Amino acid sequence: MTQTRTHSRPLAFALVALIVGVAAAIVLKPDASVKAALERPFGFVSIGDARGGGFGAADGYVGDDYLDVWADLPALNKLQPDLREAVRAAAADAAADGVELKVTSGWRSAAFQQYLLDEAVAKYGSYEEARRWVSTPTGSRHVTGEAVDIGPTDAADWTIRHGSDHGLCQVFANEMWHFELLTTPGGECPALRPDGSS
Ligand SMILES: [Zn+2]
Repeated sequence: MTQTRTHSRPLAFALVALIVGVAAAIVLKPDASVKAALERPFGFVSIGDARGGGFGAADGYVGDDYLDVWADLPALNKLQPDLREAVRAAAADAAADGVELKVTSGWRSAAFQQYLLDEAVAKYGSYEEARRWVSTPTGSRHVTGEAVDIGPTDAADWTIRHGSDHGLCQVFANEMWHFELLTTPGGECPALRPDGSS
């Protein structure tokens, strides 16, 4: 019994040190903050701000919640039908893999897109930098119903790896959440473009 006690104290210290070490590793894990930032890409944050701009569901504003792929809202209803079907099929595949695939933004009106661009210019301080993240009303594939933003991060990651089964491709290297139909089902996606201004 005495022998057990003399050994148990160093053991307890070792255990505490291990717990503190693991906790520190979790808290300080560098990619945790990166992932959190990706969960709230700029366009998404801005869409949340868009309440102040007076935009609603009719303009494709979807709020802060992740949207179910079957939601009956203009953001989904005004997507090109083949893109909408691809996203729904991908969501079914993702679900089979245990991943919940949701939509954070789909179709947007031109006025809403202009508002997002104006907000981005104010946020980034220059039109050039804003354009790396937000397209113009005439250039945005969201306005034409040809682009969809997918979340959360694990769903976007899943779509990067498996989306091409349904023709879905990541387009911009700086936007892991933005997908367009850029290949035939099972085909190869084109090379990534650096950002939306390229
Ligand atoms: Zn997008």
